[in-house]
Amino acid sequence: MASSQAPPPPSRTIALYQKDGTLHTHNTTISSISPLSTLAPETQALFKKSDKDADDNNNNNNTREYLVVVVSAETIFHAQGGGQPTDTGIMTISSPENENENENENAQVTEKPVFYVQSVRASPPSILHLGIFKGSPSSSSSSSSRFTPGVHVTQTIDVGPRLLHSRLHTAGHALSIAVMSLTQPSSSSSSSSSSSSSSKPAVVLPSDLKEGKASHFPSAASIEFHGLIPGTAKQAIQEAVDALIARDLAISIHFVDEAEALRRCGPVAEGVKGDVNAEGEGKGDVRLVEIEGAGAYPCGGTHVRTLKDVGRVVVKGIKRQKGVSKSHMFGIVRGLTLSMIEQGETYNA
Ligand SMILES: [Zn+2]
Repeated sequence: MASSQAPPPPSRTIALYQKDGTLHTHNTTISSISPLSTLAPETQALFKKSDKDADDNNNNNNTREYLVVVVSAETIFHAQGGGQPTDTGIMTISSPENENENENENAQVTEKPVFYVQSVRASPPSILHLGIFKGSPSSSSSSSSRFTPGVHVTQTIDVGPRLLHSRLHTAGHALSIAVMSLTQPSSSSSSSSSSSSSSKPAVVLPSDLKEGKASHFPSAASIEFHGLIPGTAKQAIQEAVDALIARDLAISIHFVDEAEALRRCGPVAEGVKGDVNAEGEGKGDVRLVEIEGAGAYPCGGTHVRTLKDVGRVVVKGIKRQKGVSKSHMFGIVRGLTLSMIEQGETYNA
């Protein structure tokens, strides 16, 4: 798309959250800062698509004119995408701007600006942080003027939502693996009749079932499959996912070439292109998440370290709907309930 305005040269943001999902605070530098309203329409539109995750303030007319977009050299903020919501948090200036600040404990004059990150989107090669400065409109503009390119800032994400999103996201992969495991012939009970002290469930799902889109949003966590999943499979899916979580497998991240991605992931990696934005060092690698020994997926999101960190995944239901232009049915396994046992907390997705 041609824009009539002269766009600033896009600066690359290294997505640190894709290398190390445990970073909750990090120092980096500002690459650019722009009022949202001055950005190209297609860039502004990135933030309009789905703001259901963000604060209502985001679209509030009273604040909208003060919304600015900050680009940094690196980021630990997850950019919304791949079914996972945006991270939120703050950025503050970390380098001493002047000598006075060090000694002046109750300095009103040099109060450091706090930039509240409300919504993050990828606009390759940049990652855009939409937000607002704390304080009055006048202080907002002076804050804004201190967030200049080259300034060192400390990023801090809201850890609670990040952890929830990582759990829901990992639960999505676990659920997908569990469902697909029910399309495979069970190795133990081959022939006739009952028996079965084996914990392996029988095949209950069609062998041509394919994994589709996933949502890891708290209110809509679900995985779509192309193919028919009967409602009666719910219990078998629940047992399969319980058994998988109980194995407490480690979750790891790998950057591999496209051929290797296909080898490790199978059909879900078909057509997946190496993403130069994924890692920032220009190898064009595909980022994979691997649940040790159980399966791997091309994925740009954040995850927990082992399956036990997910908590209990509850299969809430199976919804079936016709594909738009296909005779295929979509089986949507939806609604995960996660329980963190050690905290006695139950999250109803
Ligand atoms: Zn993932």
